Amino acid sequence: MNGREALLRSLPSVSSLLAKKPVQKLIVDYSRESVVEAIRMKLDQARETILQSQPVNLDASAFIADVENLLRAQQRPSLKPVINATGVIIHTNLGRALLSKSAQAAMTQAAAAYNTLEFDLESGRRGSRLLHARQLLRELTGAEDALVVNNNASALIMILSALAKGRHVIISRGQLVEIGGGFRIPAIMRESGAQLLEVGTTNRTRIADYAEAIGDDAAMLLRIHASNFKQIGFVEQPPLAALADLAHRQGILAVDDLGSGTLLDTAPFGLDHEPTIQESVVAGADLVCFSGDKLLGGPQAGIIVGKRTAIDKLKRHPLARALRVDKLTYAALIATLDHYRRNEAPEQVPVWRMIALNPDTIARRAQAWSQRVGGAVIGGESTVGGGSLPGATLPTALLAFETERPDQLMAQLRQADPAVIARIADGRVLLDPRTVLPEQDGDLLKVLASVDL
Ligand SMILES: *Cc1c(COP(=O)(O)O)cnc(C)c1O
Repeated sequence: MNGREALLRSLPSVSSLLAKKPVQKLIVDYSRESVVEAIRMKLDQARETILQSQPVNLDASAFIADVENLLRAQQRPSLKPVINATGVIIHTNLGRALLSKSAQAAMTQAAAAYNTLEFDLESGRRGSRLLHARQLLRELTGAEDALVVNNNASALIMILSALAKGRHVIISRGQLVEIGGGFRIPAIMRESGAQLLEVGTTNRTRIADYAEAIGDDAAMLLRIHASNFKQIGFVEQPPLAALADLAHRQGILAVDDLGSGTLLDTAPFGLDHEPTIQESVVAGADLVCFSGDKLLGGPQAGIIVGKRTAIDKLKRHPLARALRVDKLTYAALIATLDHYRRNEAPEQVPVWRMIALNPDTIARRAQAWSQRVGGAVIGGESTVGGGSLPGATLPTALLAFETERPDQLMAQLRQADPAVIARIADGRVLLDPRTVLPEQDGDLLKVLASVDL
């Protein structure tokens, strides 16, 4: 018998562990099923460790302590706040857009008190929730009508299901994209029952390609904005206005999925020009859809604006009920849109405030951090992220830590409370003040003081 087999044999059995006093106590605190499951998990881990010839601690009390830690960890809420020091402003894995103070307050109020979600105070009768953000969206985008659903992916499914089921949706081969998390536009389209008709090539699609593809079964021309990648070189896509023109001459719809969707021009902030929602409306798209929690800087939502007749059809579709949003989303969205109406979005909406931050202000914060916890202040770049403005960066200052094992430092930062998410470049651990809220500085410095820098 070799050493490995001896070790495997010496692992305790589940029943022998269950008989132990401290484990009995765990059963009282957590339930027998969860304790058995935790023991099995830890035994599996130990077996795996032995098979990989790694050292393993077979002491029973250490093993039971491990089981208890696992049980305790399983009870802790999995959704917890973190400090985003990555410099990626719209970080999909860290919850995308942060909400403004008024949006937060509006959500709290909607959560705490009854409200007019579907109630008309004038008549005392049932009202429609679909009215809530409608007026603001019409005003801000110039569209005739608007509808809010769960997110932009569901907006797309709804548009295709309601307006193109069993019919052709014509799309450029350059726009059959994956939007992230493994979700691909063609798969979403198939799910809706619409039939995809690809035209053009990866790099070039002309208006004539669309025109040739329009037959009796055509329902719409669909443009998907390249929100998370960039094509350069020998590339061509017809402008949206040309697509809309062609669609209308043929009696079909032109739909624009903007992805991020911005109401503000990004160029004055030192970024490439991202097509605005207003531009798509002016170009004549029948429907324009975009996310609520990307560049708009609001809650998760899919916002559809456009022609009244098209929106009316969406509102009557059963998916309108399935994909509707709740009072908290409306509350946050209305408060966010209100910042745009008041022309105060760059100051009040966190996404824009972070985009607008002056590099000197950021450098002063990095310097202040460095004086407290060490590390070097270097120049670098932040990104907007969230499938918007691919390749666009903003000059920033970073606090950099030179260390033998950067991944180990990253792990320590993640395990701290609150967890700090940084990034590694050229073997250094980098922290970007742009995405760290000023009120988080105290916590951040405490965490940095507690880890091995
Ligand atoms: C992000 C994105 C979506 C999906 O939006 P969600 O709000 O995340 O569902 C769809 N299309 C494009 C082009 C996108 O960039």
